[in-house]
Amino acid sequence: MTTHRIGIIGLGKIAHDQHLPVIRSNPNFELVAVSSQRGISPEDAEYTFQDYRKMLAKVPNLDAVAICTPPQVRHRIAREALLAGKSVLLEKPPAASLSELEDLRQLADKAGKTIFTTWHAQYNKAVEEAKKALAGWTIKRLQVTWKEDVRHWHPGQQWIWAPGGFGIFDPGINALSIVTRIMPEPVFIKQATLECPANRDAPIAANLQLATGHTDGNLQAEFDWRQTGPQTWDIEVETEAGFGLKLVRGGSCLEIDGRLVVNEEPKEYEGIYRRFDALLTIGRSEVDAAPFRLVADAFMVGKRVEVEAFED
Ligand code: NAP
Repeated sequence: MTTHRIGIIGLGKIAHDQHLPVIRSNPNFELVAVSSQRGISPEDAEYTFQDYRKMLAKVPNLDAVAICTPPQVRHRIAREALLAGKSVLLEKPPAASLSELEDLRQLADKAGKTIFTTWHAQYNKAVEEAKKALAGWTIKRLQVTWKEDVRHWHPGQQWIWAPGGFGIFDPGINALSIVTRIMPEPVFIKQATLECPANRDAPIAANLQLATGHTDGNLQAEFDWRQTGPQTWDIEVETEAGFGLKLVRGGSCLEIDGRLVVNEEPKEYEGIYRRFDALLTIGRSEVDAAPFRLVADAFMVGKRVEVEAFED
């Protein structure tokens, strides 16, 4: 068994909630370093830096880094990491644009290093079972409803509203990563409406009309960051064959024709690090751009509508 010596860059919410504990609990990884602009230093990290470049240059035998910063700076950091001979785990969204991601894919290939686009919502058992159930069927209806309270989930995070922060697509891309995983054929955006607060650069809500080669009409996604009270992360699918399924609670629970098939606490990041371990061990990359492409397309074909200003 090879232990991968890993460093984390950016010690914000997701690094604390998931990356640190999950790396600690996986014996195939050793947390050796962190880089935090604010100087946060977990006691079990042997090396701590405020500048990730120093981490890349100074930590002996560092195999890989997990980049847990906002997406706007991910490409620059990932590029430098690959050029320094490190493999790279990219938090979602993997970059600020599709062309940045393609640059990283090619660079990783040239450098002979692993690059891994992580889509955490795909690592639920219910998502895998939904994919199996839908394989080979034609989809008649898709309804994605992803509505949550931005003040609760993103307190004080200003990068989500800046260009390249993606606004409501920061959570919406999780839903789209489930859609691209379970749908039996490619999905694309026909129309989109992006509701942008008067004082912000990114949308607070979006309505998407999707299509496949076979179905043009009843495939919809509704994303909204203004939902208070109960939060909704549901995906409903109906097939031409007549059966339907519903993924609820962000893809952790699956009902097929009203029968509960999977109901599990999410272990998404455990799955991500198991996959990263496997990729590092065999020396391969995994770059899945499909969810990111749908977001890019929504911005490309979407109609922008100004809505009430949003204050934190
Ligand atoms: P966050 O709490 O704002 O943390 C991001 C951290 O990155 C900051 O605290 C800062 O940490 C570092 N950072 C900020 N600007 C930087 C810059 N210009 N250069 C280098 N480092 C910088 O955000 P988050 O919620 O953890 O989200 C980070 C990424 O994870 C996003 O892409 C998000 O979509 C994804 N994600 C988040 C969640 C979630 O539940 N929050 C879930 C899944 C995925 P230091 O001061 O320590 O450097």
